[in-house]
Amino acid sequence: MIQPLVQTARRILLRSGSIIAVQDLTPRMRHIRISVPSLISSQLPPSQHVRINAKADGFTLRTYSIRGFNSEDGTIDLYTLLHGEGPGSQWASAVRVGDQVELLGPKSTLAVIPDAPYYLFAGEETAAVAIHSMLEALPEQTTVIGYLETTLPGEEIPYTGAHALPWLYRKDAAAATSAILIEAVRALTLPEPAGVAYLAGEARTCQAIRAYLLKEKNWPRTAIRVKPFWTPGKTGLD
Ligand SMILES: Cc1cc2nc3c(=O)[nH]c(=O)nc-3n(C[C@H](O)[C@H](O)[C@H](O)COP(=O)(O)OP(=O)(O)OC[C@H]3O[C@@H](n4cnc5c(N)ncnc54)[C@H](O)[C@@H]3O)c2cc1C
Repeated sequence: MIQPLVQTARRILLRSGSIIAVQDLTPRMRHIRISVPSLISSQLPPSQHVRINAKADGFTLRTYSIRGFNSEDGTIDLYTLLHGEGPGSQWASAVRVGDQVELLGPKSTLAVIPDAPYYLFAGEETAAVAIHSMLEALPEQTTVIGYLETTLPGEEIPYTGAHALPWLYRKDAAAATSAILIEAVRALTLPEPAGVAYLAGEARTCQAIRAYLLKEKNWPRTAIRVKPFWTPGKTGLD
């Protein structure tokens, strides 16, 4: 009984959009621009996401960060990883200009905490989308450290804003088992007192870095913000 009610509520809250541009940013990362007239004149803080209904003939929600937003015309930019499996990846592979799409949100992913002593960011390519939108929101004089991870050179997501982070390459290792990100964070000299850490993307790696900061560096829990985006064996995390 509850499930149909939740679905009905979601249907009422769904926004309608139409695809107005599709472009490959890298061999595996696709930029999809969606016109959402109901968002015209909205004010969106950085680090928001939407849930896309990835199946036009059903109801299958998949979550994507808003990389860009134009409040004048209500367009949002999503960068979607074509990882090959799952309705979200298949939707992004097949989508064409002129297609209609339903979406829920926007909703906040990770709030940008102002005036931290410094900021530490870590995440793989899906997290980089949200992280880039947060980096753009930080003042130029802010101290930012950390790393982004992808497979190979050529797979880095383009970014021209302030505080660009270095990319690490896991090559053919799986994101969930590659230790390259945690090892790079371990090698950083972390200034005292603790800053604010934003860890996003593949869940196991986020948890490993969180455990390192908590247990080995004695960072307070409140200084570590974690948002798991996906992990092997789970589907459609929100
Ligand atoms: C707040 C938030 C923001 C997000 N922002 C973005 C974004 O901007 N861009 C983006 O591409 N993704 C983003 N994601 C991640 C995305 O929602 C997941 O990758 C989602 O699982 C994709 O749905 P799917 O239907 O393709 O795969 P699912 O049906 O969810 O999963 C199918 C299989 O694919 C695996 N899988 C899922 N994602 C990946 C991956 N990235 N690499 C390898 N295997 C994977 C799963 O473990 C599962 O085994 C975000 C997630 C959250 C929670």
